[in-house]
Amino acid sequence: MRLHSIKLSGFKSFADPTHFQLPGQLVGVVGPNGCGKSNIMDAVRWVLGESKASELRGESMQDVIFNGSGNRKPAGRASVELVFDNTAARAGGQWNQFSEIAVKRVLTRDGTSSYFINNQPVRRRDVQDVFLGTGLGPRAYAIIGQGTISRIIESRPEELRLFLEEAAGVSKYKERRRETENR
Ligand code: ATP
Ligand code: MG
Repeated sequence: MRLHSIKLSGFKSFADPTHFQLPGQLVGVVGPNGCGKSNIMDAVRWVLGESKASELRGESMQDVIFNGSGNRKPAGRASVELVFDNTAARAGGQWNQFSEIAVKRVLTRDGTSSYFINNQPVRRRDVQDVFLGTGLGPRAYAIIGQGTISRIIESRPEELRLFLEEAAGVSKYKERRRETENR
């Protein structure tokens, strides 16, 4: 699955609707310190289901909503949409029949978080199901951020095992077994 477009609105420093196209195999983002480069990766991990504010460099989840600047009012909601090319049919679950999969997350100031796939309301775990086993997830190995390598090296054996299980493609089966056992 290839990410080819990111749309943000009211997310961190992206107050106005902003659309990034990722046309090639290799895309570089450059800009001065504090211009919002890392916020883009935070946005990607947020849509994939990150639920811990500190992982997104905030104190509470509402910190991802644009909090105003000198001449701008704070935004009432943050919204980010990722569009993936799924022509290789690698997605999990019912959404794999679509050649394009758009995953969106919206958070309002009252704390309501909602997820959508191809504009249909879904649960957070439906989003996780799409990506389980692809290596893409809020903390999976497809996203190697600052400090990720040392985190892997220093992780406890149980955490390291989770990385290996995702890489080996067994995590989705383990998740299904866990669900079945809990029914
Ligand atoms: P560096 O090159 O130093 O790594 P960067 O381009 O990665 O910088 P980011 O960390 O993405 O920069 O962006 C930080 C900026 O985002 C800061 O100016 C911060 O004020 C702004 N920011 C973060 N959260 C919000 C928010 N909720 N509302 C408005 N601005 C925000
Ligand atoms: Mg940065």
